[in-house]
Amino acid sequence: TKLVYSFNDGNRDMREVLGGKGANLSDMTNLGLPVPPGFTVSTNACNKYFEDGQKLTEELINSIKVELEKVEKSLGKKLGGSKNPLLVSVRSGAPVSMPGMMDTILNLGLNDETVEAVALETSNRRFAFDCYRRFIQMYGDVVLGVPHYRFERKLESLKQNEGVTEDTKLKAESLKELSEDYKAIIKKETGEDFPQDPKEQLLKAVEAVFASWNNQRAKLYRQINKIPDHYGTAVNVQAMVYGNMGETSGTGVLFTRNPSTGENKLYGEFLVNAQGEDVVAGIRTPKPILELEKIMPEVYKELNDISYKLEKHYRDVQDIEFTIEQGRLFMLQTRNAKRTAAAAVKIAVDMVNDNILTKDEAILRVDASQLDKLLHRQIDDGSHVEHIATGLPASPGAATGALVFSADNAEKLVEKGKKVILIRPETTPDDIHGIVAAEGILTQRGGMTSHAAVVARGMGKPCVCGCEALNIDIMDKNVKIGEETYNEGDIVTIDGATGNVISGTVKLIDPELSDELITFLGWADDVRQLNVRTNADTPEDANKAREYGAEGIGLCRTEHMFMAQDRLPIVQQMILSDSKEKQQAALDKLLPFQKEDFYGIFKAMAGLPVTIRLLDPPLHEFLPNAEELAKEINEMKSEAKPAYKIKEKEQILKRIKSLHESNPMLGHRGCRLAIVHPEIYDMQVHAIFSALEELKKEGIDAIPEIMIPLVGEAKELKIVKDNVLKVANQYSHLDLDYKVGTMIELPRACVTADEIAEHAEFFSFGTNDLTQTTFGYSRDDAEGKFLPAYIDKKILPENPFVSIDEKGVGVLVDLGVAKGRKVKKNLKIGICGEHGGDPQSINFCQKVGLDYVSCSPFRVPIARLAAAQSYI
Ligand code: ADP
Ligand code: MG
Ligand code: MG
Repeated sequence: TKLVYSFNDGNRDMREVLGGKGANLSDMTNLGLPVPPGFTVSTNACNKYFEDGQKLTEELINSIKVELEKVEKSLGKKLGGSKNPLLVSVRSGAPVSMPGMMDTILNLGLNDETVEAVALETSNRRFAFDCYRRFIQMYGDVVLGVPHYRFERKLESLKQNEGVTEDTKLKAESLKELSEDYKAIIKKETGEDFPQDPKEQLLKAVEAVFASWNNQRAKLYRQINKIPDHYGTAVNVQAMVYGNMGETSGTGVLFTRNPSTGENKLYGEFLVNAQGEDVVAGIRTPKPILELEKIMPEVYKELNDISYKLEKHYRDVQDIEFTIEQGRLFMLQTRNAKRTAAAAVKIAVDMVNDNILTKDEAILRVDASQLDKLLHRQIDDGSHVEHIATGLPASPGAATGALVFSADNAEKLVEKGKKVILIRPETTPDDIHGIVAAEGILTQRGGMTSHAAVVARGMGKPCVCGCEALNIDIMDKNVKIGEETYNEGDIVTIDGATGNVISGTVKLIDPELSDELITFLGWADDVRQLNVRTNADTPEDANKAREYGAEGIGLCRTEHMFMAQDRLPIVQQMILSDSKEKQQAALDKLLPFQKEDFYGIFKAMAGLPVTIRLLDPPLHEFLPNAEELAKEINEMKSEAKPAYKIKEKEQILKRIKSLHESNPMLGHRGCRLAIVHPEIYDMQVHAIFSALEELKKEGIDAIPEIMIPLVGEAKELKIVKDNVLKVANQYSHLDLDYKVGTMIELPRACVTADEIAEHAEFFSFGTNDLTQTTFGYSRDDAEGKFLPAYIDKKILPENPFVSIDEKGVGVLVDLGVAKGRKVKKNLKIGICGEHGGDPQSINFCQKVGLDYVSCSPFRVPIARLAAAQSYI
């Protein structure tokens, strides 16, 4: 295989071999743009280098020599020549852009001799030594591992001695002195002289750039962005051009459109008399690109023309690096620009309107998971604020409010019109009403998928969790962060996109679906096959989801209704009652509440299907904590409270203990509850049908789908379904349309899906539980204790609760679909686990032929886009 390619030999399709930078440098060369000549050492050479135990082969060294000679010839210069010395840059460039993660060296080829030649030929001694000191520093840093700051300190003290603040004000002789000092630093740090042989410099630099593929930050960047480790980096060796030759020279970076807003206007910055990283390093404040028009109108015009040419050529917004040498423009890099979600959408729409892209292409251009960022209240980028603590960015968006330490208090204060942030050591389902009331949630413990996080994301509420710096005292209602103590009522802001906690108020901006986003999602709707429903438990959520384009409810969880503050005592009565009569009385009291819930939800979703899941969790989730209750009883005793009151509590405690399960996730829940206690589902079905009755009278079109959870055996479904029908039949005179179906969330249900389908009018894959039961992981324990290690050790590619595990869980889903449809050809099948809002999992759902996905309201736009992308 060829190891080294001239810029004349490559093209844009060779990213894998040449890296993105190298492929595009070749491409720009082919287009006839002003690119300094050079060549690319391929990623193959890099991988070979690592295979060979980090040694350059003779073959590679020879190929480099051959290509170097071509560059020397074309410019009439020679690397290391005492006359007309050639200087080169040695630049990293991976197949997938990893901006700034790896290393680059400029001005290579300088030594004590060639620097004098450059000074003489350019008649610019200052320039020559400016290049030399830059080179020694970069080489020292990248190749020899001498820390940056060693050099920076010298530079700073020199500037102080000379009484200047800017590098450009340093005289030639000072820069020469600086280069001597730099060499001395290298000698001191490494015990060796700075290498004077340019050939040695070049080969060492190539090796160092190869090695930078495996530096810490590059590795981390790959991990975060899922870039495979085996790609390796290419190395570009390119003749230098100089932006530091005086007032008619400069260097800059620009975007062909604004990467933050998408506005169709050049956006960028440049510096006069500067080189390389000066622009981004923040030493001098760069000027906006539009000012270049005033200073060098010719150059600006050429740059402007080339920019648009490149944008047209790549049919995407370009991020361009350029240098101006004495009034002459050179192109040093172009790549597709990274952009915010808002910009991505605007650019995609504009490019369709300008006939640059087809709609299908535009749809593929926007990263679906990025849309998330457009739908939450955000901290105004313009306000710079300092944070007091940082946790995990669990649910994006920002929120400001008064700290409250309990869910009850949160609710009370909100009723009085306050805005609050609920702060808890961790949250449990008991806190749900507090979460509903609060603007945002902050917890000390728990990960990105902890209860608080999942619930908050479901509601589109900002949440920061696992914020270890918090030291919460629930009793005294305060939290210590370092030395500071914050009390109930103190105002804080949390940023769920970064995990930052900020003291006081910060300016927030409201999210809204921009006109462009509405247009864009409309195009997605036109192509997608999968329907998109939402998981919603309240009319408010249902309305929100409709606004975002949901086509029905795929999962309405009824347990949240049981948790509401005014109902929980009745639910507890029902569970704790010692006779059938008392139990029925409690259920009768719950019925009107449930009816009201269903009425509201059906109405909000009028004309669209609503899947209602009958009660799922084990009953003890609705009861007080046994330990706390025992403590309370002890206190009552010591305070000599009336005996009957104590007895009452003791009865409750006894019942709680009897309901205790050693493994509730696999315990008495779902349809297993309904088989032992059919009365609860009976009440729920009554509530559904009496709501339907009322809606029918009002002429509102409700489309109910009743869903039975946790079925693992067809007979379970048959029994429970028969009970549902018995109640439903009491309403037969109304002639209502409804379906009864089941969740498929146990491996056994997938395997016996044909038998189950006999009794089901629809399937909905509950992939949260299916993932738990297939892996045999309890989610909370897995995510808290061992999953991170599994992902770290690459045992699993990623968290299977975020993206569906296609190898295992996926095969079961596929089997369930096939078996179900074998019995009922047109069986409607959807998915309602959290995977329903994950683009990668949505792609899988399309593949296995599901009819719809269902996800939280705030993920509906993401799902609409991802569904379209998976179909194109
Ligand atoms: P990164 O990947 O970090 O952007 P680059 O390889 O693009 O690193 O180099 C960074 C900067 O160095 C470029 O933007 C350019 O300003 C400067 N540079 C690189 N090669 C040359 C060259 N041949 N002549 C002049 N400047 C160069
Ligand atoms: Mg660059
Ligand atoms: Mg479940």
